[in-house]
Amino acid sequence: MTEIRHNWTKEEILAIYNKPMMELLYDAATIHREHHDPNTVQVSTLLSIKTGGCPEDCGYCPQAARYHTDIEGNDLMSVQQVKAQALRAKSSGSSRVCMGAAWRNVKDGPEFDNVLEMVRTINKLDMEVCCTLGMVTENQAQRLAEAGLYAYNHNLDTSEDYYKDVISTRAFEDRLDTISNVRKTNVTVCSGGIIGMGEAVEDRAGMLVALATLDPQPESVPINALVAVPGTPMEDIEPISIWEMIRMVATTRIVMPQTQVRLSAGRTEMSREGQAMCFFAGANSIFAGDKLLTTPNPDVNEDMKMFELLGLNPQKPFVKKAQPATVEATDSQYQSLGEKPKWTRPEHKIERNEAAKLARKNS
Ligand code: SF4
Repeated sequence: MTEIRHNWTKEEILAIYNKPMMELLYDAATIHREHHDPNTVQVSTLLSIKTGGCPEDCGYCPQAARYHTDIEGNDLMSVQQVKAQALRAKSSGSSRVCMGAAWRNVKDGPEFDNVLEMVRTINKLDMEVCCTLGMVTENQAQRLAEAGLYAYNHNLDTSEDYYKDVISTRAFEDRLDTISNVRKTNVTVCSGGIIGMGEAVEDRAGMLVALATLDPQPESVPINALVAVPGTPMEDIEPISIWEMIRMVATTRIVMPQTQVRLSAGRTEMSREGQAMCFFAGANSIFAGDKLLTTPNPDVNEDMKMFELLGLNPQKPFVKKAQPATVEATDSQYQSLGEKPKWTRPEHKIERNEAAKLARKNS
């Protein structure tokens, strides 16, 4: 079984990304099979529960209030509307609902209380529930955890070096702080990025270094291709080729073997053959529904036809265990090690092997 490493360097990741394609695919597919069922792909549904009017300036995003795009903004949806959409998603094969709100950060108050109620409601439907609401404090992350949140999404978007070319209203460090706040709870972490924003290949590797050196690594990593929306600063950027997407997916799979790699925005530009190559390279989730927040996405029926053609099965909810933390062991093992873990998340049944192995070695 391929070991999980947290000490990847940019040079190592670049060397993987630039391997001859057949070798890269073979390596990625081999690691994928060690850790995942290659015939299972999770179908997730992304709901925009509050659209547009965001004060941030993310260069790719049509929801930023400062850009003149033709998206229709809406206030926070009601709990009943969200429940109806979640039920519809479940009946068409989704096992995860991700709720996105165009906020800079979460503010305590009635709107956040409503979001907590949405989390409780979806949780009762036996679906994984994820939120992407902007920056959160530790206390807010804890409240989301208590409501039953399964995952929190906060993308790094790109490398630390390229970040300031994409966003100026908050820093890369702020992203890491939110991820760290989520990590202090039992909520799993979803964090990835977007390729095709004019970044260099080194920036793609840089983003993967930032993610893969987290300990634990994110349980979920969405890889998006830029969808250039008229009215945004990135409107004129040409779409990337499918080969770049395949390389990025394969490299992500190799450096984060246990992570759920999500083939996200940009699928409307990809052929079935291209998507099949991404699944082969280690992608094991797609987003369903004709919209991804505000940008177009393939129709769910088309996706189901593709699943049938490829012999893929939609993944059931809650089958992926959390990433192993640095150390997690029984009390007596902690005592024998003479140290405490960085954090513990017993609710997610973190593997105790590391500490147990260490304890055995030291005994
Ligand atoms: S990506 Fe999120 S934070 Fe950035 S402008 Fe869009 S909604 Fe706001």
